[in-house]
Amino acid sequence: MSRERVLITGGAGFLGSHLCERFLQEGYEVICMDNLITGDVKNVEHLFSEPAFHFEHRDVTEYIHVPGKLDAILHFASPASPIDYLELPIQTLKVGSLGTHKVLGLARAKGARFLLASTSEVYGDPLVHPQPESYWGNVNPIGPRGVYDEAKRFAEAMTMAYHRFHGVDTRIVRIFNTYGPRMRLRDGRALPAFMTQALRGEALTVFGDGSQTRSFCYVDDLVDGIYRLLRSQEREPVNIGNPREMTILQFAQAVIAATGADSKIEFKSLPVDDPKIRQPDITRARKLLSWEPKVPLEEGLARTLAYFRPRVEARARGV
Ligand code: UDP
Repeated sequence: MSRERVLITGGAGFLGSHLCERFLQEGYEVICMDNLITGDVKNVEHLFSEPAFHFEHRDVTEYIHVPGKLDAILHFASPASPIDYLELPIQTLKVGSLGTHKVLGLARAKGARFLLASTSEVYGDPLVHPQPESYWGNVNPIGPRGVYDEAKRFAEAMTMAYHRFHGVDTRIVRIFNTYGPRMRLRDGRALPAFMTQALRGEALTVFGDGSQTRSFCYVDDLVDGIYRLLRSQEREPVNIGNPREMTILQFAQAVIAATGADSKIEFKSLPVDDPKIRQPDITRARKLLSWEPKVPLEEGLARTLAYFRPRVEARARGV
């Protein structure tokens, strides 16, 4: 039997590139598609020598054609950082809506299983804590984050419609804050900002008073949850994330400790609609996928530091 073929949109991004690696390890042929507006070919360069790896420089909001069979499609293409939403609002809306439609159409044509990368942002600034999948959320549709939140909510609706109306075999993962190697140094999210600042000996920019909470999952744990979800029979959304919740101030202090820097904290104004609390309820993932995160924060930070340190130092030398 020929090996299974998977298409990963956004495959040159942070999560996409880790998924490409995992599916190659599992024996799949991998087609990585990316328009490289926030993805980076450097994230997958090391896979170019693998015969089972193919890279397609393509925008999934345009008509997409993939010759040959496809067994699975993972739709991960999207800007995913709050500063991206400010700089790329239309692209963010387009890839979540038009892009999801195109990719679902491709899944239908190929009879491929389709997995949507959704997000904890569908819960908005949540009024229920921790957030179970049954919670419908508290989203401001017209705020600066609305372009991402509403695009992903639309993408979930479109995915369920293709499942119910066209019988496409679909999965939806709601991804909570994730960190690890290959995050962009300047993508503005908490971990890259804090780690880069600490490595330069600069003050860490904590927004607001730092009392807002997040729950950070190491990328390998997340990828394992996604792999299990794809292979499961679960059609309803599943949260994947690490339930260890902490304040952003505590997270900043953990990054300072991991780097050994003596950086101070500098408080800056809180972005509009910044969620005050966030923690995944992973009861369903535990039960349905026998999954839970394994990598402790301290270890995940150490692994991430091994990626960031040489890059931040190279930039400081102007390389
Ligand atoms: N944050 C911060 N300083 C930064 C970047 C982010 O204090 O330099 C805060 C941000 O306001 C939010 C949290 O860290 O409360 C997580 O932000 P991120 O952009 O990583 O992801 P979000 O969970 O908001 O999508």
